[in-house]
Amino acid sequence: MKKIITAIALVLLLAGCGVNKMGDRPRIYTSFYALYDFASDISGGMADIYNMVPAGTEPHDWEPTVQDMARLNDAEVLFYNGMGMEGWIDKVKASLEGSDVDFVELSEGIEKKGSDPHIWLDPLNVKTMCRTITDKLSYIDVGNSLYYEENYNACVLKLDALDKKYRSVIDAVPKEKRKIVVSHEAYGYLCDAYGIEQIAVEGIGAESEPSPSRVEEIVNYIKANDIKYIFYEKLASPKVMQTIADEAGCRLLPLDPFEGPASEGSPEDYVSVMEQNLENLKLAFGDE
Ligand SMILES: [Zn+2]
Repeated sequence: MKKIITAIALVLLLAGCGVNKMGDRPRIYTSFYALYDFASDISGGMADIYNMVPAGTEPHDWEPTVQDMARLNDAEVLFYNGMGMEGWIDKVKASLEGSDVDFVELSEGIEKKGSDPHIWLDPLNVKTMCRTITDKLSYIDVGNSLYYEENYNACVLKLDALDKKYRSVIDAVPKEKRKIVVSHEAYGYLCDAYGIEQIAVEGIGAESEPSPSRVEEIVNYIKANDIKYIFYEKLASPKVMQTIADEAGCRLLPLDPFEGPASEGSPEDYVSVMEQNLENLKLAFGDE
């Protein structure tokens, strides 16, 4: 306890000493909302963080404008996911060559599973991402490094608790019931972590409308496996999933890949979104 109080005192002292003078706050950019949320948690208000993909926009097919690139030019760091999540990253890197922007890829150090970029849907991967964010923030803003470290430790506790919660709920579901039908193939890491099988109507990039034969295939799968609920996403039109649900005689539930809030002014936090996802999975895996 004494150690914690000393740490807090030191943080207050450092903050009070004006280490973070006006204008000295780290200027951080994140490519899309999940990374914005993680960076905000670690910075705890000590950095200016700007998110690139606007609310209500599906990040896979978003492209930065010339204005976005100009703004990015005075960032110290851009945190991006990598693995193809930001199709525009090479172009932006090339156009900002010679600038001081530090491009930091947050999928670094994470065990990759094929070409699926949705690494953050396994809470334990988020710990690695937050570690990278913490190290980078501490490097550019040494005076607050202790504070960032405390925030990182708090994040780890939350993420471990979330993982434990998922395990306890999903472990109670018989293996043959752990099947989810989703719109875009975003849940590979989530499914791998908790032994769930994912059947996706569209591909990894949420880009394509399924063919009539693919729809029929999915409908047959739902019937054969006695699936009561299938999942749609709020950033995509529910039309296709509704059609499938109508044909298969099942119901729709939302599942959120945490790629961004539906609108400005409705901030979301990773743990609560993932807890809501777990509630919906529980409902889908249940007998009702
Ligand atoms: Zn996605």
